[in-house]
Amino acid sequence: PIGVVGIITPWNFPVAIPVWKLFPALICGNTAVIKPASDTPACLVRFVELLLEGGLPEGVVNVVTGSGGEVGNAIVDHPDVRVISFTGHTDTGVEISRRAAETLKRVSLELGGKNPIVIWEDADLGLALDSVVWSAFGTSGQRCTAASRLVVHRAIHDDFVQRLGQRVAKLVLGDGLDETTDVGPVINDAAIERISSYAAIGRNEGELVIGGEPAREGALAKGSFFEPTIFAEVKPDARIAQEEIFGPVTSVIPVDSWDEAVRVVNGVKYGLSSSLFTNDIGLAFRSIR
Ligand code: NAP
Repeated sequence: PIGVVGIITPWNFPVAIPVWKLFPALICGNTAVIKPASDTPACLVRFVELLLEGGLPEGVVNVVTGSGGEVGNAIVDHPDVRVISFTGHTDTGVEISRRAAETLKRVSLELGGKNPIVIWEDADLGLALDSVVWSAFGTSGQRCTAASRLVVHRAIHDDFVQRLGQRVAKLVLGDGLDETTDVGPVINDAAIERISSYAAIGRNEGELVIGGEPAREGALAKGSFFEPTIFAEVKPDARIAQEEIFGPVTSVIPVDSWDEAVRVVNGVKYGLSSSLFTNDIGLAFRSIR
């Protein structure tokens, strides 16, 4: 036990992420003050109500809703909070880390990603395509581990891009609670603006294969939807290949050699998740190292 743990969480897994942080804190004998994201406070409030109904003593888990600037900063600055556990944007994590240093808190950060899937020339393309479609578009790209870079061997690049475009053209956008929907909405209209601005940047940095616009046909006009978007022939240092977009946008980066693939994979400021499709077990283990 250390004392009071301050927990600050993002909107994209509004129950799972608070739980991942809260239970280790409780099991180790701490109490917690949690601030959920302003876009999704109700999930956490209900979850903590259930904990209280289940017998958790009052005061052990405390939820405070409000903005990052007001409630988040108050938790980070408070001298009685001894640990900060934060998940969210890298920039926010840097800011929190800096502020928390003033009171010498212990800080644990889970931040953004620009996650690559490497697809080698000997890969099972069908399997790779299934994974890419789910990883890049399955939660509308709003996952810290979403595939936002596809590092593809040049020998299969054109075939891969063509088949990916055909698969993505068939994806159904709509209500995320409808089982026939493949791609749900993004979190809000501010996200649409951010994703649109990256799509505009991408038009100058790569070849637009499909998508690139907000989706507004029929019922989609009632929500915040963005077309699943693929850019091909993207250079590794392009902004769309370097910055976290957090929407249904992915970039295909062709490479000629394994050394180049490894350089591209590691050539971003993030380090979160990565995957490789190959049938060459030696190459797989070399890549892991
Ligand atoms: P965010 O804007 O950084 O917000 C995360 C939380 O921090 C929210 O509760 C937010 O409050 C609060 N906050 C904002 N500014 C703050 C400040 N100056 N001081 C204290 N708290 C502050 O991130 P998001 O948009 O909610 O989430 C998306 C990001 O989370 C992406 O970058 C994604 O990659 C990352 N993520 C990472 C993981 C992982 O495990 N690595 C998992 C999921 C998501 P408000 O809501 O009031 O602004």
